[in-house]
Amino acid sequence: MREIVKFPNKVLRKKSEKIERVDETLLKEMEELREILVASENGAGLAAPQIGISKRFLGIKNKEGVKIFINPRMTASFGEKIYPKVFDEEKKESDFLEGCLSFPDLFGTVKRYLKIEVVWEEIVGNPPKAKAFRRASKILEGFEAIVWQHESDHLDGVLFVDRVKEEGGKFYLWKEEKKVPMDVNEILAKEK
Ligand SMILES: [Zn+2]
Repeated sequence: MREIVKFPNKVLRKKSEKIERVDETLLKEMEELREILVASENGAGLAAPQIGISKRFLGIKNKEGVKIFINPRMTASFGEKIYPKVFDEEKKESDFLEGCLSFPDLFGTVKRYLKIEVVWEEIVGNPPKAKAFRRASKILEGFEAIVWQHESDHLDGVLFVDRVKEEGGKFYLWKEEKKVPMDVNEILAKEK
């Protein structure tokens, strides 16, 4: 069984290859990603490079299970990129903190679109034959849109810490049930 690759593993920086055909290897790898994401306690999404596979597919987890997106692309965005907010029971607003299974206990604020249109490929046919792809598209909103953008970045070797650095976002280490402010450069320095 594969494991989740942790930063600063170099595979996280590789640009993933477009998937041209369906084969047994791909089906097995997609199944592995699905299993690992289902088993992860707090993971909402997982991209193939995070399990050491440089291919363009990602999984998003919701109540219904894990949805796999092959060769995903964003075709439209609505509104500006903003720092997403969350609200507690008393409607008090706070920053939405993004995390990543490749960066345990680290969280930060990242600007994202709250509504996007995406296209991807799905496998059709049972048993699936080579090139049995069907194009699909959907509008994603809110949390799902944020997760999708995070995972899609992984396919290009872009990590949420890069965005935190670029945008000057907040960054924290979760330690003993507290958020400890941290300099994102300290983490990025581990790559050298
Ligand atoms: Zn991630």
